[in-house]
Order: sequence, then structure tokens, then C-alpha cells
Amino acid sequence: MTANSEPDLSIISLDGAAATGKSSTARAVAEALDYLHVDTGSHYRIICYHLNQKAIEPIESNKLLAALDEFKVNTTLKKNSVLFEINETQVDSDDLRSYTVNTQVSQFASLKPVRDFLLCYQRSLINFAQNNHFKGMIVEGRDIGSVVFPNATLKVFLEADASTRIARREKEGHTDVINERDTIDATRKLSPLTCPNDALNIDTSQLSLDEVVSLILKEISYKDESK
Ligand code: C5P
Repeated sequence: MTANSEPDLSIISLDGAAATGKSSTARAVAEALDYLHVDTGSHYRIICYHLNQKAIEPIESNKLLAALDEFKVNTTLKKNSVLFEINETQVDSDDLRSYTVNTQVSQFASLKPVRDFLLCYQRSLINFAQNNHFKGMIVEGRDIGSVVFPNATLKVFLEADASTRIARREKEGHTDVINERDTIDATRKLSPLTCPNDALNIDTSQLSLDEVVSLILKEISYKDESK
């Protein structure tokens, strides 16, 4: 599929700021529908981790371009979810959610070479989903409905109030900087976090996971029926 054509497999885009409930929702919807689950936040975190390992700063554009050029990408499956690997290294999830990655990931994610690299990869996952016989895919991130898959079958945008989001991160035991990340993500020039006009907007603050998932399943079944 190109950005302007109709997707030939069902795609749900799930965008929203940090800690609005995207990952648990995406995993549950993927399981219910037998869809491929793609967490694009993990792609940016993995790139950030590898650039950190090479001690490359966001302002060092030549070094950054050279490093991206050397990255060999591999895609495997863990249950229904895509496992994105660079240079055959599996990064531990605690390392991906470390303070260093949390404080740097949005800076790297603002850079054009990084976004172009991942846009191309993320669009290629349509073929991966089809080759692995998935009926569709649910893709979570910040720019999925606006940029990566603007013709997604269903676009969902999650929101939650600040206290709910902070409480969720505390419960997970990670030191995050969600306000700083959200500000950078929502104000950057390229592919900022935004709610697409045609998205189903869900405030998850007062809803259980099951309630959020039911809303999405109901909506995708209408879309599928009216195809
Ligand atoms: O979803 P998660 O909080 O793990 O994302 C980490 C960071 O990756 C975000 O704060 C954002 O800077 C970047 N990101 C992005 N576009 C996406 C997904 C994530 O810029 N589609």
C-alpha cells in the first residue's frame, strides 16, 4: 500500500500521548481479532538505545546518518506482536524504559532521518502481516493515523487526564518524564502527536481496559460490515 491508496488489509491506528493506555489496549484488541500488534514507540526506543550505545547525540547528524545506514533490521513475532531488532540484538524491556531512553527518545524521534527510516519500516509491516496470515493489524504510536497509515480502516485516539497517566506510570515502576516527552512530541515540526479529524476519540481516565477494548471492537465491526 502507498500512503494514498486503500489498505488491502484491515488497519487500526491507535495514537495518543504517553500512558493513555495504548499498549494494553492494542495487545487486547490484537488478541481478540487475531491481528498483528505493532508498538511503534518501541521502534523509537530501540533506535535511541542503539544510538546511546554508540554515544551519538541528537545534534551529531553525520554520525547519526552513518549509524542508521549500518543498522540491519530484523522482524520476528512474539505471539501476535512484532519484535523489531537492530543488528540481531534483543534489547531488554527494562533497558528500553530506562531513564536515559525516556529522557532522550523524543529528541531522536524529532529528527527527519530517524522518522524516515522508521516510516519506511513501519509501512513494510503490511507485507509482514500478510505473509504471516494476519487478518489485520493494530498499530500504536503518535503519528499512525495522521502519517504512517492515513487511510487506516479505523483511527482511534486515546486520552487520559494527567493524574491518571502519572498514576499508571508509577504503578509500572518506571521513572518517566511524560510531560516533557508529550511537549516535544506534540510541538515538533515533523509528524507531531495529533488527533486525526476522523478518529474515534476515547478518554480512558474513567474506563476499564475491557470497556475501551469493547468500544474499539464495536467500531471495527461496523466498519467491516459496511465495507
Ligand atoms: O509509545 P512510547 O511512549 O513508548 O513512545 C516513545 C517515544 O517514541 C514517544 O515519546 C515519541 O517521542 C516517539 N514516538 C513517535 N512516533 C510514534 C511512536 C513513538 O515519535 N509513532
